[in-house]
Amino acid sequence: MNIDSIQNGIVLDHIPAGRGMKIYHYLHLDEMDWPVAIIKNAPSTKMGKKDILKIDGDIVLDLQALGYIAPGITVNVIRDGKTVRKDHPALPRRLVNVKICKNPRCITATEPELDQVFLLRDDLGGEYRCLYCDS
Ligand SMILES: [Zn+2]
Repeated sequence: MNIDSIQNGIVLDHIPAGRGMKIYHYLHLDEMDWPVAIIKNAPSTKMGKKDILKIDGDIVLDLQALGYIAPGITVNVIRDGKTVRKDHPALPRRLVNVKICKNPRCITATEPELDQVFLLRDDLGGEYRCLYCDS
């Protein structure tokens, strides 16, 4: 399967090598019926090695989450066999329900209906910290 063979779907390119399966699981592609191709460790002049994910289906993506899981990712939207959109999601300022706070004393541990919110902190060298407990 190459890009040309996808009629309506998504091609995720420039995924850092090793993150392709993470995205596969994050998107729950194992539970979908769409044809999916994962290319691991493809040679890349820019990155050395990269993973590529091709999904032949009308999937709705959370670009922010993808930007977090796979910094540098390129999201190609294919319609009628042509690339109609290219996105380069940046590291999101705010992550909602992507990461889980591991602090057992955090309010999210006792209030499971709360969204898991993390904020990108430039003052901490680009770390993500929990909105509620700052850990
Ligand atoms: Zn927390």
